[in-house]
Amino acid sequence: MPNPKGFARKTCLNPSLSFQLFCSSYYSLQASSPKTTLSPQRNLLSSPPMASMLQPQIILLKEGTDTAQGKGQLISNINACTAVADAVRTTLGPRGMDKLVHDEKGNTTISNDGATIMNLLDIVHPGAKILADIARSQDSEVGDGTTTVVLLAAEFLKEAKPFVEDGVHPHNLIRSYRTASTMALKKIEELAVSIEGKSLEEKKQLLSKCAATTLSSKLIGGEKEFFASMVVDAVIAIGNDDRLNLIGIKKVPGGTMRDSFLVKGVAFKKTFSYAGFEQQPKKFLSPKILLLNIELELKSEKENAEIRLSDPLQYQSIVDAEWNIIYDKLDKCVKSGAKIVLSRLAIGDLATQYFADRDVFCAGRVAEEDLKRVAAATGAAVQTTVNNIIDEVLGSCEVFEERQVGNERFNIFSGCPSGQTATIVLRGGADQFIEEAERSLHDAIMIVRRALKNSTVVPGGGAIDMEISKYLRQHARTIAGKSQLFINAYAKALEVIPRQLCDNAGFDATDVLNKLRQKHASGEGPNYGVDINTGGIADSFANFVWEPAVVKINAINAATEAACLILSVDETVKNPKSESAQGEAAASAMAGRGGPAMRGRGGRGMRRR
Ligand code: ADP
Ligand code: MG
Repeated sequence: MPNPKGFARKTCLNPSLSFQLFCSSYYSLQASSPKTTLSPQRNLLSSPPMASMLQPQIILLKEGTDTAQGKGQLISNINACTAVADAVRTTLGPRGMDKLVHDEKGNTTISNDGATIMNLLDIVHPGAKILADIARSQDSEVGDGTTTVVLLAAEFLKEAKPFVEDGVHPHNLIRSYRTASTMALKKIEELAVSIEGKSLEEKKQLLSKCAATTLSSKLIGGEKEFFASMVVDAVIAIGNDDRLNLIGIKKVPGGTMRDSFLVKGVAFKKTFSYAGFEQQPKKFLSPKILLLNIELELKSEKENAEIRLSDPLQYQSIVDAEWNIIYDKLDKCVKSGAKIVLSRLAIGDLATQYFADRDVFCAGRVAEEDLKRVAAATGAAVQTTVNNIIDEVLGSCEVFEERQVGNERFNIFSGCPSGQTATIVLRGGADQFIEEAERSLHDAIMIVRRALKNSTVVPGGGAIDMEISKYLRQHARTIAGKSQLFINAYAKALEVIPRQLCDNAGFDATDVLNKLRQKHASGEGPNYGVDINTGGIADSFANFVWEPAVVKINAINAATEAACLILSVDETVKNPKSESAQGEAAASAMAGRGGPAMRGRGGRGMRRR
């Protein structure tokens, strides 16, 4: 099995070899603690009884612990991070490629989203895992910019690598990187353009530009305007509510992307229904809605109770009692005036027929999430009993109908009074396609919400990255000392975004970057970025390639933190406990042979054999 850390696990099968190994570790220990009086000759570990008679040896780490340290370890971590970034590099931007990941269970996922790919890759390298973590945090924090954050972090590290190799202390690099990051963030805040104080109509347009930029790099990029306005409508519909699950996305395979639609309210797939359901009315205007969390089914109580009867005639009365209980419940539901009864639990055939006879619509086993959204939208409160149903706990909406969408039936509540929900019904060919469309819409929804809250945007297409890079280079020139080089390296690393956008689109990156550098250095075009359509440069702001400032701020922050974190690690210790059973077996077998108890200290990053 290949070792996840990339180096061979050390096994000492040869006693003399293990002895030599131990001697060298021992000497390095002695150098740091001169008081130790052990002599190497007495430490014959291949004969434990003898060793135990002598003075105790210093056991610092558990048997089987694997350590690697020093500059070599740092370089190996940097290499691993670069390798991870290479896996997502080609997905950046509107011309980025998608990745198809399939696991052993046969699930296939096609995605362009950095966080999704990193999750699916199942990275085991401890250093490189940090990159997966920052991609995840970027995803949950702002929703977009997940590839960007990984690329930036890896590029910061790549730029730092030659310095580390030349013997620069990582802390000097870290300090300069932190300074550069603080300056970059300040500059972004200065350059960001506020969309505050605009009318709702104008704001909607601006927000859909941001959503379109996010969507342009996705599979559904071809229909970005269509989906961008849908996402903006959905986000504006839920208002200031922070609960993301108020926007539901329902996937119905079949049809084309353009058949997707937005319901300003709630929509969910028809639940399982019993006979009698077909006789229920399927459309209501301003109905009252009752939400329940109880079963409406005829229950046979035989499992729950034991009753002794002396007279067979009494049996009938007990059966009747059961029927009376359920009829009583159903009667109360109908008397409440509700025309639609939804329950989290089952609604049986008896109840379905009963409701049908009274022109009431019912649906059982509604998913909890959907029921909550119906509650939020219609103002109903979920009931756990049918006693005392007052008018206040009933919800309402303008129209309820059951409609055919593709080959599914959907229950749709529209014109809800609190209006705080929206549902996007996604259509499309393959399952994988709809899944990816959902992830893309999630990114766009997050972006619009963020932009709505923070209301500042920056030009995309690498424009903001080039501008900060120029600013940092200018600043670096004013610094005397090594820090100048490090800040320059940071500035150069920021250029990875426009460079990658060009590479992915098949443009000559060097040529485009030179043009961009010239434009930015002359101060004429701070908003110039890569023009993805012509292969030249263009004003990203004028072309409406906008991104919320928070995406960049978060990405630079997280990438710098991750790079500094990786730079500050110079030792990796592998705890034998966390190893697989196979590893443990090997370790115990080695202990039997009297392997050294403490190994690998004082190495130079390479595994010693
Ligand atoms: P991420 O996962 O980081 O969001 P994307 O694949 O979505 O990665 O790519 C985002 C990058 O693509 C951003 O830097 C953005 O500015 C750029 N971009 C998006 N649309 C365009 C466009 N129309 N022209 C140029 N660059 C664009
Ligand atoms: Mg994106």
